[in-house]
Amino acid sequence: MMGRVLIIGAGGVATVAAHKVCQNKEVFTEIKIASRTKSKCDALAKVLNDKYGTQVTTARVDADSVEELVALLSDYKPELVMNLALPYQDLTIMEACLQTGCNYLDTANYEPKDEAHFEYSWQWAYRERFEKAGLCAILGCGFDPGVTSVFTAYADKHHFDEMHYLDIVDCNAGNHHKAFATNFNPEINIREITQKGLYYQDGKYIETEPMEIHMPLNYPNIGPKESYLLHHEEIESLVINYPTIKRARFWMTFGQQYLTYLDVIQNIGMARIDEVEYKAPKADGTGEETVKIVPLQFLKAVLPNPQDLGQNYDGETSIGCRIRGVRDGQEHTYYVYNNCSHQAAYEETGMQGVSYTTGVPAMIGAKLFLQGVWSKPGVHNVEEFDPDPFMQQLNEQGLPWHELHDVDLEFED
Ligand code: NDP
Repeated sequence: MMGRVLIIGAGGVATVAAHKVCQNKEVFTEIKIASRTKSKCDALAKVLNDKYGTQVTTARVDADSVEELVALLSDYKPELVMNLALPYQDLTIMEACLQTGCNYLDTANYEPKDEAHFEYSWQWAYRERFEKAGLCAILGCGFDPGVTSVFTAYADKHHFDEMHYLDIVDCNAGNHHKAFATNFNPEINIREITQKGLYYQDGKYIETEPMEIHMPLNYPNIGPKESYLLHHEEIESLVINYPTIKRARFWMTFGQQYLTYLDVIQNIGMARIDEVEYKAPKADGTGEETVKIVPLQFLKAVLPNPQDLGQNYDGETSIGCRIRGVRDGQEHTYYVYNNCSHQAAYEETGMQGVSYTTGVPAMIGAKLFLQGVWSKPGVHNVEEFDPDPFMQQLNEQGLPWHELHDVDLEFED
């Protein structure tokens, strides 16, 4: 069997996925890594070659350009493109896949650069074209979305006749010992959490102010952590695929210090995503020129690089689904989760836990696709596939999960 993959991106998530791809060489027989900065791909390829003896080829590509992508894909002809760049590139990469007959996988849904807004409609609009072309696109195959969606599918398949209440709980109890840093791309991260909150109830979405709703939740092996209701993309597809769900919410923990910094960043205008004019000294020293910068992109340039957090990162993440529903006429609760240690992730891949928990599922989705287990024409969210083989792979590939039955889910209603 042939398994030729192209990984686009060479950041934290792509690095972890590349390690895992090399650890599964019986399925991934040929690997290329392409990104905007080729030197990063080359550095990663060297690490992979030293560690696994795998020959990985590299290329430079601007994934904002359909033309450049088409040239690369027509030349390399991968079976699957793993889009581990940024959400801005989803549509250009999907378009290039259609033009060249390649299958597609990503971990985050499309966002336009000039609007901090994400929803699946842009990518779902490609359904018919992928179906007609006999190609498969797997959307949202990271941890959340990704594993949380598979957890929900698994709960539905094995533990409930009807699921009614879904709460996805995401805790990072790690400490990177920096005053302020984000765990993945700072621009994407800050855009996500400064948005208004949103949750689903009785067929409609209810909007909240950013971080308005919060409560302490107890996480396994960690203890109580203040958790904030956020809008998160998997809710959008899960409530459609499981119409018995009456309420679906997403919670994420933040430390007080993080929130204080975030407040300052917003109040001084550094979270802005529109262009501002700035008088910069000319490179040749002959005075000044007016340049346009996006404050949040500038901030990203001065914040710690999430990829460099790993070495001193201790503690763990705990992400799971708390579900209440009915089975055989009786109400039950169910909590399924994974805890991931930042240090263990770092020792294995050189990256911290947040990149690890995203990159491993991306590899698993790709592996199941190449094995023909998760493969059907069209554009699909991960809960539309059989959760069982994915759950088994999680246990084998470094993200073991645990389940609790009929426990207190800590939500009053
Ligand atoms: P990084 O910023 O570390 O890496 C992004 C990579 O994409 C970089 O190598 C960057 O190149 C490359 N890139 C950016 N723009 C382009 C372009 N136009 N053409 C080619 N390459 C480009 O991000 P992460 O690894 O932390 O995150 C990767 C993805 O994973 C994001 O989409 C993020 O939203 C998603 N994610 C999903 C999670 C989930 O659970 N589902 C959780 C965490 C992240 P360069 O080095 O030149 O900048």
